[in-house]
Amino acid sequence: MMKLLMGTHTEIREFLIDYVENALPALRKIQFRMHLLACTDCSAYLRKYNTSVKLSQNYLQDPPPEELVNLTLKFLEERMAAKEREADPYPCH
Ligand SMILES: [Zn+2]
Repeated sequence: MMKLLMGTHTEIREFLIDYVENALPALRKIQFRMHLLACTDCSAYLRKYNTSVKLSQNYLQDPPPEELVNLTLKFLEERMAAKEREADPYPCH
């Protein structure tokens, strides 16, 4: 049940780029957000990914929409920070 709602680690990492580029269907986006809120592994993975995107943007002529990526991450980080202050009621897997 939680897998259906949240997706799996593999799915999250497979669809990470689409998520960051806001190219996912609505259901996938919801799965992604639910998973990231509950899974510290994948949220750390996303942060690492975004850090590398930011670094690479320094060298690109035509960078991805940084503002969109930043807004998405800001939202997620705020939600994750709020989540971390609570006891986590959902196991990761
Ligand atoms: Zn995960």
